[in-house]
Amino acid sequence: MKKIAVIGAGTMGNGIAHVFAQNGYQVNLIDISQTSLEKGLATIAKNLDRMITKEKISENDKKDTLLHIATFDSIDKGVASADLVIEAATENLDLKLKIFQELDEVCSDSAILATNTSSISITQIAAVTTRPEKVIGMHFMNPVPIMKLVEVIRGYSTSDETTTSIMELSTKLGKTPTEVNDYPGFVANRILMPMINEAIETLYNAVAGVHEIDTVMKLGMAHPMGPLQLADFIGLDVCLSILNVMYDGFKKPKYAPCPLLVNMVRAGKLGVKSGEGFYDYSESRKAETVAKQFS
Ligand code: NAD
Repeated sequence: MKKIAVIGAGTMGNGIAHVFAQNGYQVNLIDISQTSLEKGLATIAKNLDRMITKEKISENDKKDTLLHIATFDSIDKGVASADLVIEAATENLDLKLKIFQELDEVCSDSAILATNTSSISITQIAAVTTRPEKVIGMHFMNPVPIMKLVEVIRGYSTSDETTTSIMELSTKLGKTPTEVNDYPGFVANRILMPMINEAIETLYNAVAGVHEIDTVMKLGMAHPMGPLQLADFIGLDVCLSILNVMYDGFKKPKYAPCPLLVNMVRAGKLGVKSGEGFYDYSESRKAETVAKQFS
């Protein structure tokens, strides 16, 4: 595999493009929004500068990496010669089904089609193509250039050959791929989201405050970040939507989102991105500053 197309230049897409380009792959970065493409490239350049400051790469490495990335504002122009397409567009089922139908029509027959979805069924996405054996989940973690894990998700029809190619490719990127099967939440979110939801229930039941819950999990369980701070970082709307996917998929009450989470999302308190969640980010978006009072 030499030529990679990445669809979506947002948080995940620009990180995925960065990692492939830095490892010598030719990357076509595609987004319908020109602003997203410009912001995506600026983010990649800024992250490469940070790596230069830390003496992890040279100025030449930065130049080479940026030369490996071309941008496109429509899918048909950017994917025709790609060996692998990684879709990292907005998390929306109808949008992803439409994108995969188009990819199936315009990509070469041998191309593998991957999605970075956090919660949508790989099997359902694969079913709208004529090549379900070549459709796979490639779930990178945020921030992509730093996080080592790639959760490689096999849909119901994904072939061994496709899985092996993606596992090997992820290793070449310096990542640690981990193979899992396609059930709601895969593995990462199936374990993480109930923990976050339980932390919110604990707060909702007034067992302890925000700061106390996060301190117990940080200092007691050696988690680098408490679950409420992590929820703010991920986005409370994203947490709610993933919990709903698991609740619908398993039909078990243990995945039912806590009413406090539902209310906060309704009120527009989405965490770091909206300036307020379990913590107040009005002073600094970088780290939690002030824990909100809940009672
Ligand atoms: P984002 O909102 O930052 O970026 C999405 C981008 O997709 C936007 O730039 C948008 O313009 C573009 N887009 C929308 N429709 C498009 C189309 N038809 N063609 C091309 N581009 C299109 O979203 P994100 O956080 O980068 O998430 C992208 C995917 O990655 C989602 O499926 C999400 O579930 C998954 N994911 C996100 C995270 C995370 O922490 N943000 C982690 C793992 C996986």
